[in-house]
Formats: sequence, structure tokens, C-alpha cells
Amino acid sequence: MVDRQIVARGVKDERVLAAMRKVPRHEFLPEALRGMVYGDSALPLGDGQTMSQPYMVALMTELLGLTGAERVLEIGTGSGYQAAVLAELCGKVYTVERIKTLADKARATLDRLGYKSVAIKVYDGTYGWKEMAPFDAIMVTAGSPDIPAPLVEQLKEGGRMVIPVGDRYGQELKKVTKTADGTIVERSVPCVFVPLIGNHGWKE
Ligand code: SAH
Repeated sequence: MVDRQIVARGVKDERVLAAMRKVPRHEFLPEALRGMVYGDSALPLGDGQTMSQPYMVALMTELLGLTGAERVLEIGTGSGYQAAVLAELCGKVYTVERIKTLADKARATLDRLGYKSVAIKVYDGTYGWKEMAPFDAIMVTAGSPDIPAPLVEQLKEGGRMVIPVGDRYGQELKKVTKTADGTIVERSVPCVFVPLIGNHGWKE
């Protein structure tokens, strides 16, 4: 999976590649899907939500430029797989999920695999996680109409955020860097994510 789908498409960060090799993706999905889990596609994880394609997980992670000690916020816990990949690469992961059944399942999986540095909260993640801010990096794993202002606020100066921005059916991955006088927004690849539903995202 890593060589064919991820290295071949240009992801180079060795730490990211090692994390992708290490985290057992199949553990985060229902038994019925396990035959497909290392394929080059997104997969359904229940409640109408999807786990991203391995390449997208790796690319988004690489764009955050993690070196080991960071505190990272993820919006959209889903299965917990991306949170586990992040946990391999930083000091502490805070992840927010709006659907409680998914958060509960993710918690159970992460506990079973020993990911103790991941904290999960059930809430509208478009508000971020104010009590734990500021963050060195933020990853949004659902598609947003815009860059939610609370997330920019909760990013440290010099911090990076990756977020798919666009309409409900297609987005572009953006990398947002917070500077002393605002933000720098860089464009990455086209992508398709389930909608970010919340006060600073899509209305239900
Ligand atoms: N990162 C996940 C996949 C995320 S799919 C993984 O590795 O498996 C997108 C997730 O975002 C879904 O679980 C969806 O319920 C969640 N979501 C959508 N809007 C949200 C919001 N406002 N706050 C928190 N989670 C949200």
C-alpha cells in the first residue's frame, strides 16, 4: 500500500511513511470490509461517513510538517485511523467528532491498540477545542465551504492547518499557515470529502 499508492504519488516524509506502515488500518474498520482495506480508495465506516484513501491520509499528514512534540487538533475523528497516524508523529492529538457512536467506536479501537495520546471530544468541531488551544497544527477531515474562523484563531503563529475547501461534492485541499499578519493559503490537490456539518461549516 505505502510504496504503490503513497510513495509513487510523491509523499516523501520518511516519518509519515513509517507511520503509514505501522498503523494497522484494518483494525479501524468493520470485519466485512477488511478485504478492501489496503486498496486505493476511501471506505465506508458507518453513519454515512468515510475513511479517506490512504494517499490522502499520508498527503494531509505530510503537509502538517510534524517533527515529534506537536499538539495537533483533528476535526472529524471518524474511525480514529487518521488520529492514530498523527499520534505516531506528534506529542498529543485532540480530535473532535460530531457523531457520538463513531467517537465511541474510535475510542474503543484506539484504546485496544494502545494509543494513549489521543483525546476525543463529541462536539461541533467547527468551533475547534478552545480549552486545549493553541495548536501547532490542525487537520480537518471533512469538506468545508470556507476556512472556519475559530480554527484559525486556535492555531499558533507559525502553525499549519490542512483543510478541504469547496462545495459539497468536490473540494481542493488547502494548506493554511498562520503568520504574524494573517494567513498564507496554499493550494494542494482536488479531493472529495463528506461535508463538515456545523455552525462554521455546512448547515445541517
Ligand atoms: N478522519 C477519519 C475520517 C473522517 S470522515 C478517519 O480517519 O477515519 C469525516 C468525519 O467528520 C465524519 O466522521 C463526520 O461525522 C465528521 N464531522 C463532520 N462534521 C463535523 C463537525 N462539525 N465536527 C466534528 N466532526 C464532524
